[in-house]
Amino acid sequence: MMEEILVKGGGLPVKLAVGGLHGREWIVSRRIESKIRSVDWSIVGSFIFVPRVSFDAYYRTTLDISFYRSEAGLNLIRLIKRFKPSIYIEIHGYAKSSLRRLVDPMRLQKKGVPSFFKLKSGLLLGSISPITLSLVDIELPLALELPLKHRRNALIDCMRLLRIVAESRSVEDAWKILIGYYNDPVFRSYMERMKIWINLFRR
Ligand SMILES: [Zn+2]
Repeated sequence: MMEEILVKGGGLPVKLAVGGLHGREWIVSRRIESKIRSVDWSIVGSFIFVPRVSFDAYYRTTLDISFYRSEAGLNLIRLIKRFKPSIYIEIHGYAKSSLRRLVDPMRLQKKGVPSFFKLKSGLLLGSISPITLSLVDIELPLALELPLKHRRNALIDCMRLLRIVAESRSVEDAWKILIGYYNDPVFRSYMERMKIWINLFRR
């Protein structure tokens, strides 16, 4: 099945945002897609949005190698290799029951990926899978997790972050604005550490 690709703007730098990686997460990214269609952002370069990468209802975590052998995983890597984004945003959805696991301070030791940072709106911000990071070279990759229920405020935060990405002139510019996005020294240091973590995978 071919995914739908929404392209705004044109040229470099390329910013790619994808959703619907597994299970029923596309329900969240469909909402974002309809919002993106109607925004009048001053996009610098290209902003590409793919609301649905997976077309089956299976839930395979991107932290497991089996995801990359599935249709969704193959689609995802193909999309990243095709568009070669300098900024890449992965949009997920979480059930309330998964929250504790996602923000677990021991997540790096347990799962090999840093814990998410929870914004007041319920939006989680963190790293994409280290497997994806090792398969493709992206300067600024980030994962966002929206609550599957009661997501109104998280959606607002998500759209603000996507706008920062879409309107940024460069990766450095985007980092600077993202690090200062949330007026909280804990967030700032989290983002500084995220930058170091991502750079571990750069080639
Ligand atoms: Zn997910």
